[in-house]
Amino acid sequence: MTASRRLPDGRGYFGQFGGMFVPETLMPALKELELAYAKAQADPDFQQQFQHLCRHYIGRPTPLYAAKQLSAKIGAATILLKREDLAHTGAHKINNALGQGLLAKRMGKKRVIAETGAGQHGVAVAAVCAMLGLKCIIYMGEEDIKRQSPNVFRIKLLGGEVRPVSSGSRTLKDAINETIRDWVSNVNDSYYLLGSVVGPYPYPMIVRNFQSIIGQETKEQILATYQRLPDYLIACVGGGSNAIGLFHPFFSQKSVKFIGVEAAGKGLATDKHAASLAVGKVGVLHGTKSYLLQDDNGQIMPTHSIAPGLDYPGVGPEHSYYKETGRATYVAVSDTQALEGFKLLSHTEGIIPALEPAHAIYYTAELAAGLPSDKLIVVNLSGRGDKDLDIVYQAEGREL
Ligand SMILES: *Cc1c(COP(=O)(O)O)cnc(C)c1O
Repeated sequence: MTASRRLPDGRGYFGQFGGMFVPETLMPALKELELAYAKAQADPDFQQQFQHLCRHYIGRPTPLYAAKQLSAKIGAATILLKREDLAHTGAHKINNALGQGLLAKRMGKKRVIAETGAGQHGVAVAAVCAMLGLKCIIYMGEEDIKRQSPNVFRIKLLGGEVRPVSSGSRTLKDAINETIRDWVSNVNDSYYLLGSVVGPYPYPMIVRNFQSIIGQETKEQILATYQRLPDYLIACVGGGSNAIGLFHPFFSQKSVKFIGVEAAGKGLATDKHAASLAVGKVGVLHGTKSYLLQDDNGQIMPTHSIAPGLDYPGVGPEHSYYKETGRATYVAVSDTQALEGFKLLSHTEGIIPALEPAHAIYYTAELAAGLPSDKLIVVNLSGRGDKDLDIVYQAEGREL
């Protein structure tokens, strides 16, 4: 047992972060979930079912690809890409959707509810629900429905129902509020399948553990090929699930540096970004205590990022803990820089990344340029770019 495997503590905290800030009516449901998850985790049949579907449904293990052309262009450290873009439905989201879908089924729940921002989590949940025979309802902000219409169509094709959310800024934050509201009213037969390492305990732990398959595979793959651990792990941070999934299995290996990349949007000096860890303050949102973007009155601020999956005013409590203890470093990359990262990877490796990991690619290129060639960097390529072609076209289609 490593220090981090014992976190969160028995009350659901990572240091001062995390907890269960929910209405009384939800406490029994969270306790039921905690118990059901503990039993599933200890059950070899459940673990085997998850592993089997990871392999045959998701297509795991995903490759750890040596990006030789990218590395050569920068002329320094070796860059390895963890290819979550090759996972079924095109992003890492499916790892958690599958794990929690199996848990919902095991708990005898027939109705699954979930929020989605960009639609990637909604698509992953709808796919898993179709495969497991569960009813699927996805809450999505009206603004996101407009921005991400192909994903709305995919969710519907997979048999999911999309419920538009018209409150607040009509984006992810409001979709989560609506899903929580639904859960309060239908708590007995419904399973809330949360999409990132956010929300009340035990969600940040459950999502982390299912996503940790990313870091576990990375560790085996890099030891097999390079006979050593990486020097850096780099991932983009929205709610923080793909980053924690990569980082967590390396927690106790202090020589491995963790770098999380947030969205600086149009710049940290403007109010158009989503960098909760870089410039946020500690507060409570969606049932958990963590760094948030809030004004002096504690009102949640509107956020912006060119990458819809990074456009969230909070971050998982474990990242706040990693920041506070210095275990990880967090940086921010702007919309313009992310577009550079997007083109750089497309041109050098023939891989079109999602705009979210394009932030991590940009930062990696900057970092690698100043490092000696014997350094190994792993970047989590959390998703593929097909969903973002419209956004990129709008931003610079004429120049391509
Ligand atoms: C949703 C998403 C993210 C952001 O979510 P995290 O929980 O921070 O991982 C990043 N990349 C892709 C491709 C996504 O779909």
